[in-house]
Amino acid sequence: MAVLVTGGAGYIGSHMVWALLEAGEEVVVLDRLSTGFEWAVAPEARLFVGDVGDTGLVSSLIANHAVDAIVHFAGSVVVPESIADPLLYYDNNTARSRTLIETAVRNGVRNFVFSSSAAVYGSVGAEPVQESHPCNPDSPYGMSKLMTETILQDAALAHDFRYAALRYFNVAGADPEGRTGQSTKGATHLIKVACEAALGKRGHIEVFGTDYDTPDGTCIRDYIHVTDLVKAHLHALESLRRTGESLVANCGYGRGYSVLEVLDCVKRVTGRTLDVRYAARREGDAEAVVANSDRARGILGWRPEHANLDRIVASAFSWEEDLLRRNSPKASA
Ligand code: UDP
Repeated sequence: MAVLVTGGAGYIGSHMVWALLEAGEEVVVLDRLSTGFEWAVAPEARLFVGDVGDTGLVSSLIANHAVDAIVHFAGSVVVPESIADPLLYYDNNTARSRTLIETAVRNGVRNFVFSSSAAVYGSVGAEPVQESHPCNPDSPYGMSKLMTETILQDAALAHDFRYAALRYFNVAGADPEGRTGQSTKGATHLIKVACEAALGKRGHIEVFGTDYDTPDGTCIRDYIHVTDLVKAHLHALESLRRTGESLVANCGYGRGYSVLEVLDCVKRVTGRTLDVRYAARREGDAEAVVANSDRARGILGWRPEHANLDRIVASAFSWEEDLLRRNSPKASA
């Protein structure tokens, strides 16, 4: 039996592949390499270059490798881009996911773990948000994920099929062993961008919005270490196989940091200076989003081991340094 990981050449997916292999799973990766890299895939996994919407290809992978579970990361992740190009997001994140879910159902794959997002909630304030909170996305990105959650929910009611939708808060950091990290071309996420700026890979960093109703006026997010996040996926997979119960669960630590607090942390941990510029609000940004993760802890038995912003930043920075040092395809990516 094998686990099919879509987007396994990307940031979170490549960490998941290592974690699955360490857990003794056979892993098949499907990635079209639009933002991921072949080198990011652990050598023990089989990589197939293709699209999750290619029903023929996915059906043959399921049959040839006895796939019993799909962990679906492939998708687009940049909120402002989703506002500029919503149809791209509804295609990549919703339509292609629907096709993949149908292929899973038709081929008897009963377990499906889905990369959802805290963006499904929209702006909820600084109090930790529970999964039962009404969903009101601020962007097509969030809506594209919510629509896929709905498709999964209905598919699970109608078919012999169950799913775990994990709502990621702000994923950051890199594998502590340095095997993989965040290498996405043109990545816009705060900790990645700040580490690049600290290393001089970019000239300055902009703070998007300083007039939010938060203590220092900048947005608050719950940053989660990618290693803890993939651990939650392992628990979710185990739970699906064992209980057959579908689940929606937040993945965050329950502690929020403002943009300025993150930048201070980057300066402190790296010992570098940052050229910080204050800019207008970025469209689609929620003011504050923090997770209540009682469900992941209680039902899945998830125990985060890296819930520390300094460690997240240190691992992200060390990966950036590594990319710079190698002066290889990774460094120029
Ligand atoms: N942010 C920023 N400058 C940047 C990148 C991000 O001020 O160069 C802010 C962004 O406006 C948001 C927070 O940092 O308030 C987290 O943004 P990110 O893009 O990392 O993740 P998102 O919350 O959009 O998924």
